[in-house]
This record gives sequence, C-alpha cells and structure tokens, in this order.
Amino acid sequence: MASDRSGWGAAGGRPRRGLGAAAVLRHSLLWASRRPGVQRVVSGSPLTRRLVRRFVAGEGLGDVVLVARRLIGRGFSISVDHLGEDTRDAADARAAVAAHRALIARLASEGLAPRTEVSLKLSALGQILDSELAFENALEVCRAAAEAGIAVTVDMEDHNTTDSTLGIGARLRAQHPSTGLVIQASLRRSEADCRALAYPGSRIRLCKGAYQESVALAWQPRNDVRSAYLRCLRILLEGGATPLIATHDPALIDACHRLIAARGGGRAHEHQMLFGVRPDEQARLVARGEEVRVYVPFGERWYPYMMRRMAERPANLALVLRALAGGG
Ligand SMILES: Cc1cc2nc3c(=O)[nH]c(=O)nc-3n(C[C@H](O)[C@H](O)[C@H](O)COP(=O)(O)OP(=O)(O)OC[C@H]3O[C@@H](n4cnc5c(N)ncnc54)[C@H](O)[C@@H]3O)c2cc1C
Repeated sequence: MASDRSGWGAAGGRPRRGLGAAAVLRHSLLWASRRPGVQRVVSGSPLTRRLVRRFVAGEGLGDVVLVARRLIGRGFSISVDHLGEDTRDAADARAAVAAHRALIARLASEGLAPRTEVSLKLSALGQILDSELAFENALEVCRAAAEAGIAVTVDMEDHNTTDSTLGIGARLRAQHPSTGLVIQASLRRSEADCRALAYPGSRIRLCKGAYQESVALAWQPRNDVRSAYLRCLRILLEGGATPLIATHDPALIDACHRLIAARGGGRAHEHQMLFGVRPDEQARLVARGEEVRVYVPFGERWYPYMMRRMAERPANLALVLRALAGGG
C-alpha cells in the first residue's frame, strides 16, 4: 500500500465502523444502475420523479436553460451534461452528436457560452462499438463547441474505458487543447495518469470515482481514497495543470485548500459540484470568492446517473427501496 503523505494520518486505511454495510448498499445500487428490469420499476414510481427533479435539471433544452440562467445569475459557472451512455448502435451515437450540437447552439444563442462548458460521455458517442467512431463523434462536438466559445470536458466512466478515454482525450487535445479530462482518484493507476497529464494548460477534473471497482483496481476505504485524491492533486499542481476539484467532501475540500495555500495559493483551480448536491456548500464557496462550476445534467435518460447519485449516500437507499415497493 502506498505511504500516506497527505495528512490524513493514521486513520487512513482503517475501515470505519459500519463501512461494510454501507459498501454493500453502495454496490447494490451500482448493480441496479445497470439493470433494465430494476429501471422499469424504479422509473415508474412518483417518488422517483421527485428524486429526479432534485438531481436533474429537466428533460428538455428549455429546462436546462432555465437552470443555467439561475445558477449563472448566482455567480456559478456550469457544465451541462446531456444524459445518455452505453450506446450500442451507431445511429444512436449519431443522434447523441446531434443532441449535443443542438445543446451547444441553444446555449450560445441564449448568451450563456462564456460561463458554460459541456460534459461529454464517450460511451454515448459509440465508444463501446468502436473507439474511432467515438473519437470522430467527439471531435465534431468539440469543433461545434469551439466555434461557440464553449469548452468541453470528457467524463470518465468505468475502468474498462480508462485507456480508451485518455487516448481519445489526448487526440482531442491535439486540436482543442482546452478539452478537460477526468481522473478518478480512487483508481490505483491514477497517480501515474496524473503525472502524464500534469502540464500547464491541462484542465483535469479530479473526482473520487463513481463506479464500482475491485480492490485490485481501486482504493476502497474512505480515507485511502481521500489520501489518493490529495496525492493526485499535488502531482497536478506541481506540473502546473489546472485542477478542477470535483468533490462535495468538506474535509477533503479543506485539505485541498491547505495544499494549494502551502504552494503559494493562486486561483488556477476551480471547484466543481453536482446539481442538487450540497447547494449550501456550493454557495459558501462562491461567497468566499472561489470559482464554482455546477454540473447540470438534463435529458430523458436519467436512470443510471440518478442511481449513481443514490449510491453515493447510504441514506438514499431507503428512498430507492420505497420507490421499488411502489411508495410515493
Ligand atoms: C462535477 C463533478 C463531475 C463528476 N464527474 C465524474 C466522472 O466523470 N466520472 C466519475 O466516475 N465520477 C464523477 N463524479 C462523481 C464523483 O466521482 C463522486 O462519485 C461524487 O462526487 C461523490 O463523491 P464526493 O467526492 O462528493 O464524496 P462523498 O464522500 O461521496 O460525499 C461527501 C458528502 O457530499 C454529500 N454528497 C455526495 N454525494 C451525494 C449524493 N449523491 N446525494 C446527496 N449528498 C451527497 C454528502 O453530504 C457526503 O457526505 C463527478 C463529481 C462531480 C462533483
């Protein structure tokens, strides 16, 4: 196990009491996020509809524009995610490109481009079928975004896609250097990936990782993940990259600020948080002068996204169980 130079001390690596049960719940929800049968039951519940409204801006472009205006008016920048993933058909991948182009055109025509980026999932653009197809599709979206003055960040999905996503990301950066990439700090490989990506102008969204990964591939105890996160951040800062600190974890946010301050401060970072998660913390950071980007998902294909959000908080399991039982 890697040594802990991050300041989490002796607690790092020792599972907290109750972590076992929490981990089982988390794994169950992540399992359910990929089961169409569970999706049918959960999606039909009125309770689910209320939950979706908390985490998703709505289903149409009009919904996302309303939310975007409200957030930008309150001092946030935004990253808009047109929901959809795991596309298994080239025609669906083309439809996803068209949807992203329509989104970009609408954001630009509404005058929202300067405070906006678009987040992109390569699996929505055909990555499972053919990585070349996904690259061509992503390049088309990046070109449209660049013409509109909007940056793009490529989301990271489960570990099976990491190499392909980083490879496509490097090719996109060759033509669009501002393209953001994502590192999941919980993956054991991520420090090495950060070293390769730690250079000036490199925009890296650093998150813990939302997918269920094995012990062989990923740190599991909470404090080990935090320690790994800080090691990754340190590497990015040392190389002059621009870290996009994507976490709602208050202890980790404080530790990031301490690390940045120890390196002389500066504003070459931003915070990123998910729509509907800890809005109080989002507002607090904006009030103290931090750049905060809210990740705003929208669209009809919200089920896997919402189930990942449920898995991040064991208390959310009760809500999903009520939805499964037909509660409203
Ligand atoms: C902008 C952004 C983009 C992301 N992009 C990716 C990506 O591309 N790939 C990827 O794998 N992951 C992505 N993630 C998800 C990330 O990996 C984590 O799964 C997620 O952020 C939860 O981890 P956390 O760091 O907030 O810490 P946690 O320890 O999970 O949460 C800290 C605290 O935040 C609150 N909180 C966190 N999540 C929830 C929730 N769902 N509901 C209610 N309260 C909650 C709770 O108070 C919790 O105690 C992204 C996250 C953000 C913020």
